Amino acid sequence: MISKAFKATVLGSIILFSSCKDEQKIEDQPMTENILLQEWTGPYQGVPAFGKMNVADVKEAVEKGMELQLKEIDAIANNNEAPTFENTIVAMESAGKTLDRVFTYYGILSSNMSSPEFREVQAELAPKLSEFRSKISQNEKLFQRIKTVYEASQKNPLEAQEQRVVELTYKQFEMNGANLDAEKKKRYAEINKELSTLYTKFSNNVLHDEENYVTYLTKDQLGGLSDGFIKSAAKIASDKGKEGMYAITNTRSSMDPFLTYSTERELRKQVWENYYSRGDNGDEYDNNQIIAEILKLRKERVGLLGYDNYAAWRLQDRMAKNPENAMDLMLKVWPAATARVKEEVADMQAVANELGDNITIEPWDYRYYAEKVRKKKYDLDSDEVKQYLQLDKLTEAMFFVAGEIFNYKFTPVEEGSVPVFHEDVKVWEVTDKDSGKHIGLWYLDPYAREGKRSGAWATTYRSSTTFEGQTNVLASNNSNFVKPAPGEAVLVSWDDATTFFHEFGHALHFFAADVKYPTLQGGVRDYTEFQSQLLERWLSTDKVINQFLVHHETGKPIPAELVEKIKNAATFNQGFGTTEYLASALIDMKLHLADPTNIDIDKFEREALDELGMPKELPMRHRTPHFGHVFSGEGYATAYYGYMWADVLTSDASEAFKEAPDGFYDKDVAKKLVTYLFAPRNAMDPAEAYRLFRGRDAKIEALMRDRGFPVPKN
Ligand SMILES: [Zn+2]
Repeated sequence: MISKAFKATVLGSIILFSSCKDEQKIEDQPMTENILLQEWTGPYQGVPAFGKMNVADVKEAVEKGMELQLKEIDAIANNNEAPTFENTIVAMESAGKTLDRVFTYYGILSSNMSSPEFREVQAELAPKLSEFRSKISQNEKLFQRIKTVYEASQKNPLEAQEQRVVELTYKQFEMNGANLDAEKKKRYAEINKELSTLYTKFSNNVLHDEENYVTYLTKDQLGGLSDGFIKSAAKIASDKGKEGMYAITNTRSSMDPFLTYSTERELRKQVWENYYSRGDNGDEYDNNQIIAEILKLRKERVGLLGYDNYAAWRLQDRMAKNPENAMDLMLKVWPAATARVKEEVADMQAVANELGDNITIEPWDYRYYAEKVRKKKYDLDSDEVKQYLQLDKLTEAMFFVAGEIFNYKFTPVEEGSVPVFHEDVKVWEVTDKDSGKHIGLWYLDPYAREGKRSGAWATTYRSSTTFEGQTNVLASNNSNFVKPAPGEAVLVSWDDATTFFHEFGHALHFFAADVKYPTLQGGVRDYTEFQSQLLERWLSTDKVINQFLVHHETGKPIPAELVEKIKNAATFNQGFGTTEYLASALIDMKLHLADPTNIDIDKFEREALDELGMPKELPMRHRTPHFGHVFSGEGYATAYYGYMWADVLTSDASEAFKEAPDGFYDKDVAKKLVTYLFAPRNAMDPAEAYRLFRGRDAKIEALMRDRGFPVPKN
């Protein structure tokens, strides 16, 4: 996961301002004592004063930051000189630095160090931030200036990066209705307001059903479950006032292990039904009608802009470009995925028969029997693997890879020289291995703690830009490993090690950036996960395995047989994984291509799946009535396909390495990778960048091979 959430939150879908350099002093606004507003001082071009931040300062700082930025924007909009690239686009790129700095602290306080006090401030600021965004996106004078610069650039193109930043800026405003006449603009704003209410209702309904359908077990119903799972289920039950019972909550983290291990078939069915009926219970929390309204409003809104459907509007600035390309990819993979499901079901049925279970595989049996097949076929003991995966060694391994591919060197900074927000956070200086040139700082916050959000993510405090002089990069990685006793190694699972590499890939994407303007740092939804997914591949290279995957007690490298088992198991259950994912991604797209007049969501989902030939043994990963990616906001609406889109690039690019003389450490391929696929970020059209790297477009064959699917013949 990548977290540009804070900067992105400030400007919503408008523009990503993220540069930080010396701020222009605004004469009539003397700086306050508020530490969050102040310029960063100290070494390395100035670093955030994490040691001094305080929740009490946040509200004032955000409000002041917004006020300063709106002043800057007004000054640009009301400039008496004719609009030019410099006085409009560059000025906009330069604006908002104070608020940017504030949001670095805000990000830490919301993701790494949250507290009830902070959440109160957050709730209070949310509507103000939304109003702030509208003030920029609906600033008519500002847009007219952008448009003038844009139109001039269409006749007399600027240099490549200048041209791209003009086009991206103009496009963002245009896509959000800046070009509409007054009457349509009014309707556009009304629709957005209605939608935001519906999105909130949708999420609250799902939340309601997640909180209110708990399955309580008695002591004699715990068959198959692990001690850790039972303990946590007991704790949840007693917190809910059911002392002596065991609670299976209606969330994925509870449902998934329960369905994988519980021997109680009837209970599995109940837990399964609760989970996949969220938002679909025919009561006041049912989402079907809300979804229909959302689809109608989205269609009406893009209609104002002249688009046939929401998907066409949404995908125009994505790598896929249009819904047809996205559908084409999904439908090419779909038959192989569903065919694999048939094989998986047959394997599972055989195991069930051997066990004398006398059942036919139903959706609530899939995970349970798949686990039995996994044990039998791959004989992989995840605990044994863990003994070779030490956090410190994995960190060294990532530095090694960064050295080989990016020519970077990581050196720990002197303790205390760079402020951190918690004693567990460590900081390294990143330099070029040969020239010693300073590139930036890497902050690592590895351990779980109260107030820290779950999962793993990467973010930046400062990005590399050159338009006001070269800035260095302050990037961070954040995980939730369990903190060990002093002197003990942190042992992690293979999945967690993969995620650790994944997030480091995002950080390297930040460090490698070579762009002039902040807007060109922005991510493209179906492209930004590619770089991080690709970096995962170095974890299983021989050089990493032999040097860094060593036993925490004996120091011996991981045995070859064990590595072989891990690699073999990689394609296990891909029928299930790919089909449940694709079913959701296809329905997401089909719903937004359909005519929403009188649409019956339940019926639409059922018929569309029938038409696709959805296997009856498994459901969509996210059924429509609780598909939060798509209906609790617009983040992933007609964008859920993007994970697979990025994965096609990942598989294809990793084959470029496999085919090279020195494999994953081939210097020529590495150089191309950094030059074309990491350094430009969004300064270049991603499809064109990929062609420069590979000499052709990515093909899906590599993805099919990675998932163990037969490769389609042309
Ligand atoms: Zn990611």
